[in-house]
Amino acid sequence: MDSTPDNKISVAVISGEIGGAHIARDLAEFLDPARHTLTFISARKTFVYLPASLRALVNPDFPLSSVFMPYDNLFGNFPGQLIHGTVTLIEENKRAPVLINTPSSRSKIDDIMYSGNVVYRAYGEQDKEEKLERVWYDVLMVVTGSKWEGFTGFPNMMEECVRHIEMWRMKFKEASDIVIAGGGAVGLCELLSHT
Ligand SMILES: Cc1cc2nc3c(=O)[nH]c(=O)nc-3n(C[C@H](O)[C@H](O)[C@H](O)COP(=O)(O)OP(=O)(O)OC[C@H]3O[C@@H](n4cnc5c(N)ncnc54)[C@H](O)[C@@H]3O)c2cc1C
Repeated sequence: MDSTPDNKISVAVISGEIGGAHIARDLAEFLDPARHTLTFISARKTFVYLPASLRALVNPDFPLSSVFMPYDNLFGNFPGQLIHGTVTLIEENKRAPVLINTPSSRSKIDDIMYSGNVVYRAYGEQDKEEKLERVWYDVLMVVTGSKWEGFTGFPNMMEECVRHIEMWRMKFKEASDIVIAGGGAVGLCELLSHT
């Protein structure tokens, strides 16, 4: 049976945006590097600040750095691991003994926790998907949100993302009529105010 690598409790977050980033940042303050590892797995290399994204799609002068931001300070001082890859499978290993460290009893195997491996397609330097890899988890948070279609459906790879934005900037520039279908906050309040 697998055991937890290096006898620490492995906490993993699958995400890439605001929900998972907040969780990872809060966990980094709360967890103890002597007892825990913290891994953040994201299909994107950069955080996408969606509320600013409509302005970037419409206005060619709006800096992309206000929408796409690096994860540089995600973990603060915690030695967390940032993985760039797309998760394809979560393998559950339901009967894994783990090492529990409490203030009163150190290093005692006394519990059964759900655990396993997250399988992901790792990206290389050139942002190309390379091979399947695994990362162990004892505690897993899946914060994969929703997939947007159309102009807010930003591709994961930055190069494709820039092409996507340039295409939409051109469409807005050349459009003589723009019809906004739907009266929600994104369409009415945000897109309308930028066009
Ligand atoms: C144009 C626009 C404007 C908005 N404005 C506002 C606003 O002003 N205020 C507000 O409160 N909300 C706003 N929202 C809504 C807000 O952006 C969402 O509620 C928020 O993004 C949800 O965050 P999340 O982290 O739960 O999920 P998501 O933002 O959907 O993030 C999920 C992440 O998980 C990653 N992921 C998914 N599957 C995998 C996988 N298999 N492997 C690895 N990674 C994976 C995705 O790549 C993504 O990075 C807006 C949305 C849009 C589109």
